[in-house]
Amino acid sequence: MAKAGLPRIVIVGGGAGGLELATTLGRRLGAKKRAEIVLVDGASTHIWKPLLHEVATGALNTGEDEVNYFGHAHRNGYRFEFGWMSGLDRERKVVRIADVIGPDGEVLAQAREVPYDTLVLALGAIANDFGTMGAHTHCMFLNTPDDAEKLRRKILAQSFAVGASGNPVQKLNIGIVGGGPTGVELAAEIDHTIREMHQYGAELTPAQLEITIIEGAERILATAPESLSQYATDALSERGILVACNSRVAEVNESGFVLADGRTIASDIRVWAAGVKGADWLNTLGLNTNKLNQIEVTSTLQTLTDKHIFALGDCASTPDGDGGKPLPATAQVAHQQASWLAGTLAALQAGKPVKPFQFRPQGVIVSIGKHTAVASLASVVGPKRDYYVEGRGAKLIYASLYRLHQAAVHGWILAVLLWIGDKLRRAAQPTLKLH
Ligand SMILES: Cc1cc2nc3c(=O)[nH]c(=O)nc-3n(C[C@H](O)[C@H](O)[C@H](O)COP(=O)(O)OP(=O)(O)OC[C@H]3O[C@@H](n4cnc5c(N)ncnc54)[C@H](O)[C@@H]3O)c2cc1C
Repeated sequence: MAKAGLPRIVIVGGGAGGLELATTLGRRLGAKKRAEIVLVDGASTHIWKPLLHEVATGALNTGEDEVNYFGHAHRNGYRFEFGWMSGLDRERKVVRIADVIGPDGEVLAQAREVPYDTLVLALGAIANDFGTMGAHTHCMFLNTPDDAEKLRRKILAQSFAVGASGNPVQKLNIGIVGGGPTGVELAAEIDHTIREMHQYGAELTPAQLEITIIEGAERILATAPESLSQYATDALSERGILVACNSRVAEVNESGFVLADGRTIASDIRVWAAGVKGADWLNTLGLNTNKLNQIEVTSTLQTLTDKHIFALGDCASTPDGDGGKPLPATAQVAHQQASWLAGTLAALQAGKPVKPFQFRPQGVIVSIGKHTAVASLASVVGPKRDYYVEGRGAKLIYASLYRLHQAAVHGWILAVLLWIGDKLRRAAQPTLKLH
């Protein structure tokens, strides 16, 4: 129930952006009874999405790294509403929430309405297969913790099955569509996992694994500097991972990929990691959306239709400061937007003038297996130099991104304790989840 007299700020989506915003507003306003902060999510736990490739390979155990929203809300001055948003009544200022249905068809949370004075939509994105024939049916995706867990089980089962065949020339073929950070990180992580499993005694040998990254552009990591793409290509090739650039997928079937030029790539496991878009139902809310179903917002993150409704992160199309292309769908953008909105919301609500949101790119960092990453820091040290770091130094910067998210969500002291706990746990337990 809403608390009488307090302004209600409702945030829908507790991901990279929404959870950080709910935490900051909860501590600043909710705990001090200056506003009622409500977070709505259809999942009951949060896992930071850039870690999903580690979940998919068992390098990260969701049971240990996920944040339970109920407990987190209780400790951080906000209220958690469990449920999937299904609609919006802007006249009555209520968000509609559908029933949450459990795995056996039981209703876990009833359909209801949640009233708001200010609404922030931070709903994330879904995979975009661009309508490619067969992709939806024959590919696996890596967009939710459920997707990652299904992929983990599939990789585990197939690697045991091929190993158990006793045929040393039989291969496990994995095709990954998309040579962006997600595809590259996933390929390297799977390769590392198979090598580690073999060291533990699994029969599948690294030589039996054949991973192909299929990319339509002429190089992988196409939005990063060319030198960085080259470094990543070399690092992948050292690991025996194949990179097929200039390769557009025309069709997917149960045996693999058919490319636009007629070539085929056989794949036992097919993963689609190329592109994201907003969920289709975002077009039904009466808010302006773009071709990718993203909600169009101004440079103050307010929707074009309603200044009491904000959108951030992957579900929003935010103009970059120079009026060019909209900002990319990355955790960096979602994080900076959440911090900016937490500091500006009160002024915006009071109708005071504020400086528009300005994205400050921190560079591109891509993990390549357990010990290596590659980072382009041109946007940090200055655009004139194409400066980048590689190897363990870059891996340290990469790992620090997650620690920054943990600090935003738990505070610095707890984030440091969690980091020490992780180190201890990894020293005491196998580094892979093999069950
Ligand atoms: C495998 C992978 C690797 C990535 N690596 C990087 C990286 O290295 N660096 C980087 O910057 N970015 C990376 N990204 C992108 C990054 O994860 C996203 O840009 C970021 O998570 C977007 O944050 P968000 O808050 O907009 O949405 P999300 O973090 O996706 O959160 C959306 C939340 O909304 C909830 N939700 C969705 N629909 C509803 C609904 N109807 N009702 C209620 N709740 C709902 C979801 O349950 C979820 O909790 C990666 C993405 C993936 C998939």
